[in-house]
Amino acid sequence: MSAELTRVIKEEARRLGFPLAGVTTPEPPPHWPAYENWLAMGRHASMNYLADERARACRRDPRRLLPECRSILVLGIPYAPPQTIPPPEDGTPRGRVASYAWGQDYHLVLPERLRALVAFIEAHSGGPLPHRLYTDTGPLLERDLAQRAGLGWIGKNTCLIHPRFGSTFFLAEILLGLDLEPDPPFEADRCGTCRRCIEACPTGCILPDRSLDARACLSYLTIENKGEIPPELRPALGEWVFGCDICQAVCPWNRFAPLEVDPAFAPHPGRPRPDLIAALRLDPSAFRRQFADSPVQRARRRGYLRNAAVALANSGRPEAAAALAQASQDADPLVRAHAAWGLEQISKAQKRP
Ligand code: SF4
Ligand code: SF4
Repeated sequence: MSAELTRVIKEEARRLGFPLAGVTTPEPPPHWPAYENWLAMGRHASMNYLADERARACRRDPRRLLPECRSILVLGIPYAPPQTIPPPEDGTPRGRVASYAWGQDYHLVLPERLRALVAFIEAHSGGPLPHRLYTDTGPLLERDLAQRAGLGWIGKNTCLIHPRFGSTFFLAEILLGLDLEPDPPFEADRCGTCRRCIEACPTGCILPDRSLDARACLSYLTIENKGEIPPELRPALGEWVFGCDICQAVCPWNRFAPLEVDPAFAPHPGRPRPDLIAALRLDPSAFRRQFADSPVQRARRRGYLRNAAVALANSGRPEAAAALAQASQDADPLVRAHAAWGLEQISKAQKRP
C-alpha cells in the first residue's frame, strides 16, 4: 500500500511541475555535526537566524517541526540554467543576476503547488493528515534530506547535484504524518577529482571540507548581507548585483541539464542583465514595483543599489560617474557610501595612463 501510494504521489508531483521527488524519514540528517561545526567557525557570517537554538534543534531533528512526522517528501523543480546571457548591444553598463532570480519568486509559486499535492495525498490516504510545507522557509537541512531521499549528492560547491538535472533546481519539502516508502540515499560522490568550482570561485570561499565561507561568498554579500561589502572584496563582485552563478555555471553536471524551465521561472525581460545606471536611479516605489514578484526584493532597495554601485564602479566606464555622483547623495547611508566609493574608483580609472 505505502509503495503504491508513494508511486502515485510522485506521479502527481511530476504533474504539478516537480520532476524530482524522493522520500526520506525524519531521522536526524547525516551532516548535522558538520553543520554545527560550520556555525561554530562563524562561517554563517551575519545570518544569526541559522545559529538560533530552536532552529538548530529543528535542523537536528525534523520531528521538532512536526511531532507526528513519519515521512518527508523532498521535491525539486528546475529553474533557468546559469548560462551567460549576453548583454543587449546598447553600450549601457550591465549587471548580472543569478539565474534563480530571473523569473517569479519561488516563495510565491511553490506553496500553492505543495498545498495541491497535500490535498491529493489526503484524498488518497483517507482524510486530513498532519503536515508542514517548506520552500527554503524553515529550519531544515534540506540538501541533506534530499541526498537521503535519493535526489543527488552534495557537490564540492555545496549544491545538491542530480545526475540529470544538475544543480539548478529549487527544493521544497512536505513533512507528513503518513508512512511512505523511503528511497535509497544517493551514496555516490560524482565530483571525483574535478575542482572547477573551487578554481573558478572569485573569492576562494569554497573550502576543502565541502563547505563554504559565507563571509566571502558573493551570494551572501549581495543578498543576505545587510551592511557594507568589505572594500577588499568589492572588485571580486565584477558585474554581479544579486547572487552569483559561477560555481554552478562551471560545473560539468549542469552542461547537459534539460533546458526546459517551468514558465514561472522563465527569464523576465531585462532581469538577467539589468541596466546598472537605471538600477542606481530606482526610487523606493519604483524598486517595489519592479521587483514585487521577484526574489531580488530580498536584498531590499538599499542592498540592490549598494551592489549596483559596486558593479558600476567595477565596469570602469566613465558614463557611470554621473549616476554614482547622484547616488552619493541618496537618502540611504549604505547607498551613499558605496556610490561615493564607486565614484572614487571611476575617477582613479580615468587618471590611469
Ligand atoms: Fe564562490 Fe560565487 Fe559560488 Fe559563492 S556563489 S561560492 S562566490 S562562485
Ligand atoms: Fe563537483 Fe566539479 Fe561540479 Fe565542483 S564543478 S561541484 S567539483 S563536479
